[in-house]
Amino acid sequence: MSDEAERKMQFLYALRSKGVTDSRVLTAMEKIDRGPFIRGLFAERAYEDMPLPIACGQTISQPSVVGLMTQALQVSPRDTVLEVGTGSGYQAAILAQLARRVYTVDRHRRLVQEARVLFDALQLSNITAFTADGSHGLPDQAPFDRILVTAAAEDPPGPLLAQLKIGGIMVLPVGQSDTVQSLIRVTRHETGFDYDELRPVRFVPLVEGLGRD
Ligand code: SAH
Repeated sequence: MSDEAERKMQFLYALRSKGVTDSRVLTAMEKIDRGPFIRGLFAERAYEDMPLPIACGQTISQPSVVGLMTQALQVSPRDTVLEVGTGSGYQAAILAQLARRVYTVDRHRRLVQEARVLFDALQLSNITAFTADGSHGLPDQAPFDRILVTAAAEDPPGPLLAQLKIGGIMVLPVGQSDTVQSLIRVTRHETGFDYDELRPVRFVPLVEGLGRD
């Protein structure tokens, strides 16, 4: 077996052993190579199941966490999805395999610009990336079938709850930034919201306003 094939097999094995079992999610993660989303010093560790540093002091999430969050979001092929926290663009690229349309937003202009270059190179034409404070959501594109937040807020931001369709699902980490946070799933019903606590996680904080770069 080639090194690349073996690396891929180990990558998928690690995902399955951490509970990523949804075949559509596994297929999407097999297709999207994590390598190009990580530059510089850490590029060679792209296939390990660990979070890694990216530009602007941010981190690309651990692949198994990306898989578990994507699985919890239960994306259907007709869905319009909002991701808050573009970062490297990796999570958005996975979502783009599963949804009709993905909007992704980050407060750092540089991260958005770099992610756009990758989306173009990978011909992921159903992703639109914006530089904005994603805690306000994207009122012009709302409502969304699914919302995924990849930075931790103390509570689910009100505008994101408001921009979720009835029957829609939002997955997000909540809690204080420097402690263990909980990944939660919010489901919107006709009359309100249901909250499920999924697992402990650790994310960078959701920060208000735009970044300096
Ligand atoms: N999903 C990313 C990893 C996200 S790291 C990936 O696949 O690589 C969290 C990201 O959230 C960071 O890039 C950070 O800049 C962004 N972020 C933090 N607060 C934000 C806010 N209010 N609006 C938009 N993005 C935010």
